[in-house]
Order: sequence, then structure tokens, then C-alpha cells
Amino acid sequence: MTTLNGVAVHGHHIDGRERPSADGRTFEVRNPANGTLIAHVAEGGAADVALAIGAADAAFADGRWSRMTVRDRHRILNRFADAIEAVLPDLATLESTCVGRPLREMRAQLGRIPEFYRYFAAVARTAEDAVTPFEGSYLNYVRRVPLGVVGQLTPWNHPLLILTKKLAPALAAGNAVVVKPSELTPLTTLVLAQIAHDAGIPDGIFNVVTGFGAEAGAALCTDRRVRKLDLTGGTETGRVVAKLAGENLVRVTCELGGKAPVIVLPDADLDRAAAGATFAAFIASGQTCVAGTRVLVHESQADALVERMVRRARTIGIGDPLDLATQLGPLVSRPQLERTERYVEIGRVEGATVACGGRRPDGVHASGYFYEPTIFTNVRAEMRIAQDEIFGPVTCVLTYRDLDEAVQIANGIQFGLAASIWTGDAARAMKLAQRLECGIIWINDHHRIDPSLPWGGMKDSGMGRETGLEGYREYTQTKSVIVNLDDPVDWYATNEVVRLS
Ligand code: NAD
Repeated sequence: MTTLNGVAVHGHHIDGRERPSADGRTFEVRNPANGTLIAHVAEGGAADVALAIGAADAAFADGRWSRMTVRDRHRILNRFADAIEAVLPDLATLESTCVGRPLREMRAQLGRIPEFYRYFAAVARTAEDAVTPFEGSYLNYVRRVPLGVVGQLTPWNHPLLILTKKLAPALAAGNAVVVKPSELTPLTTLVLAQIAHDAGIPDGIFNVVTGFGAEAGAALCTDRRVRKLDLTGGTETGRVVAKLAGENLVRVTCELGGKAPVIVLPDADLDRAAAGATFAAFIASGQTCVAGTRVLVHESQADALVERMVRRARTIGIGDPLDLATQLGPLVSRPQLERTERYVEIGRVEGATVACGGRRPDGVHASGYFYEPTIFTNVRAEMRIAQDEIFGPVTCVLTYRDLDEAVQIANGIQFGLAASIWTGDAARAMKLAQRLECGIIWINDHHRIDPSLPWGGMKDSGMGRETGLEGYREYTQTKSVIVNLDDPVDWYATNEVVRLS
């Protein structure tokens, strides 16, 4: 790593070593809490992506990882997990500095990361192949094999966690990976690549090309050597990536946008529901795909719930993300702040009421992208603030008269990623869960994850699943071997009539 005017300059991570861009370009990474310059990072173009894919292709082909014994891959992935764990405090601080999320949140989130590598190492180590009920005197065994080179495009909101959800199963299954992290938050991904290298993951197996989506991202999506594309990002990016994957006939997994309903049933404890709804909405300043941004409450309880939510929202401590007492940091960038401001204005014009927030806070750094936790009431389901993904600390309270109407509102949207149900009656919640069109449903909780959970959305929230056994299988393909246990047929030696059933 070199420096420029005292600021670090980071290259790509290709074939086990740091490399500048072929044309020497770099871009800036800034701290969203105060605007300071954190680093200069290599701006990748088609040549850099081609180099990384070439390294991955060669590494996959020579079997240094794909044909390593599963026992050894398992051992190295566990070593990788231990090495991550050893530097978690530093990773959390760097992630918090780049994303703007409070250190308290980052520590909680990154603390889960090592277990993803351990889980998928164990999945690979214990995976059993199948023997099918093939008719006749045959043995058909089905082996799962890796895909080859896979491309992973990650967003800025949870850079390391989302990468880990893709990288851990991809590596465990024996693939070679090229990652294109978000241009806003590439630094922890580069650090992770170095940790992987030091832990013994062979050169060429985990490559990182930094840069922008339209150039480096697009180059990754159009190279025919890439056998799978895995994107977490916006729904419109998903359409672009899925189209390119279609042209190359490669697999694609897309984890896209959301607008999760938080459904408060009439028997719910309102204090718990209010705590849950504010947690669902404001963690990460609302910049999560599963943010609970539509609170559905029975009309008779709306005032009582809103009063409790507003009280809680007003106590959320806004400030420097690195201060462990801070509960809400800035948005990641100026465009994200301006988008939030624009949507709050749209909500006002649409006739909704701002019950709290709706402005930038006082007493924070003037160059930071801070916004107050905002709760809208008097919201109708068709309003844009209730339909569009805002990706800021803004939630809408909508009322329902009966459960059918609650279901209609919850499902009446292009997205289908997540939902939560708040109730004292688990059976009722489970029945309601069956009627919701989304891939992830929490009952009396929100945001909770696990490596074993199949994660993904319905409708415009995405296609395919990440993590869990399903996520692992999506990084493999089957190979069917059919063994004839008898003498082979000499087809042309006889004119025997073939029966039809
Ligand atoms: P984004 O779509 O702008 O970018 C995601 C990644 O794709 C980045 O690395 C970007 O550089 C790349 N990219 C952008 N355009 C591209 C193109 N034309 N070709 C190839 N690559 C391209 O998303 P973002 O703003 O970084 O992240 C926020 C979005 O991600 C939100 O919509 C959010 O809902 C979604 N998200 C979804 C999940 C989930 O699990 N479903 C999780 C987190 C975030």
C-alpha cells in the first residue's frame, strides 16, 4: 500500500497480491459522518476485471482449491474464521468509519461473521451425495461439484456481512471468486481478502476488483468465463444483472429491495411492538433491505402505538458513529440523504403527517449526512412513501380494520422480501405468515439472521436464495453418474420389439 498526501492508496486484490488499476485510476472513499477523506482506491476497468477472472479461472482449473480434500478446505476456512475473529474490533471500526453505522451496531453485526465460514465449512465437510431410485440394474449417483468462477456484486449497507453470506458458501463448495464491492465501501472487503490470503486460501481463489458498477460491475457480468453472478443491490440493478446473466446463460442470484411490513396484531403487547417497530425501522438509519418501513396496526390501537413509537424515536441518540453511545449514525452518502429528504417532502405533499423527525438534526457534524428518525401517520397504502423503498430512517404507520385488510396492504406492493408479526398468539401469527407474499417472516422479532437461514425475496425483491443449505446448493451443480451393473446392451445385434411401458 502506498500513500498520496498522507492518505492510503489501495489497489485491487488479484491472484493473492495487491495491484493498481491497469490505467492507474483511483477514486476517493470518504467518511459519511464528517466528509473526511479515508482512502484512495483503485478504479477498476475491463482490463482489471479480465485479469482477476483470468487468475480465478486458472486457480479453479488447476484444482488448488476445488480438488483439495474437503477436510483441508474445512480446516483452512476455520482458520480464516479464527483470523477474522482475532481482528473483529478493527474491522468493526473500519466498517463503521466507511458506512457511518454506529460502532455498537457494527460490532454486533460483524460478531456473527466468523460463524458463517464455520457453518459452511461444516456443510461442505458433512455434505452427502445422493443415489437415485434409477430403474433397472443401474446405479445412479449424483455428486455436487463447484461451478467454477463466480462473480459477486455487493452493496454498501452491510459490506462484510453480505459478502460473507455469498463468499462462505462459494468458497466452501470449492469455487473461485471475483468480488466487486460497492464503490462507497470497498475497504473492509480488501482487508478480508488479505486475511483470507494469510489464512491459507490459495492465490487466485478470492479476488477483489474495486470500482464502479457501470464499468467494473458490468465487465464482471459480461465475461463468459464467469459461471454465476450473485448480486445484492437495488431492484433496477437486479434487472440489468439478470439480463446479462441470461445472455451468457449463467446462474444468477439477486437479493434486491424491500419494504417490510411490521404487522401488529390486536392482542400484541404495545410496548414490545413499539420497541420492535422502531428497531425494525431505524437500525442502520433504515438502510437495510428488510427495514420495517410499513407499520400495520389495528385502527383502534394506532394512536397508542404511535405515541409509544414517537417517544422511543425521540430518545435515539444521534451522533459520531465511533462513539459507543451513538444509536443512529449518518446516511451513507449525500445522494442517500437527498433521497430521504425528497421522500419526506413527497409524503407531506401526499397528505401524510410527520409525527416526529422529518428534518436534519441539530448538534451533529455539518458535513455529515445525518437525518432524524421519522414516523409518518395518516398514510394510505397507495402513497409513494408506502410503496417505494426510501432507504433512510423513515417509517409509515398504516391502519387496518380486519386481518384481511392487513394482508391486502402487506401484499399490495412490488416487493416481497420480509415481514414481521407482533402478537401474543403464535398460532395466529403462523396462520398469517402463510398468507404473506415474502421470503422471510419474523414473529415477535425483526432483522435476526443465521447462517442456516435461506435468505431471499419473492416478487421484485429477488430471485434465488442465499445462505442455508439452499444457498450452498446454489454454488454447486450436480453431476449424475449412471453405472450399468449388468452386461451392456448390444442394440444393433437384435431386432427384439421394445415394449412401450
Ligand atoms: P446498487 O444496486 O446501486 O449496487 C449494488 C452493487 O452492484 C454495487 O457493487 C454496484 O457497484 C453494482 N452495480 C451497480 N450497477 C451495476 C451494473 N449496471 N452492472 C453491474 N454491477 C452494478 O445497490 P446499493 O445502493 O449499493 O445497495 C442498496 C440496495 O441494495 C437497496 O435497494 C437494498 O434494498 C438492496 N439490498 C438488498 C438486500 C437483500 O438481501 N435483499 C440486502 C442489502 C441491500
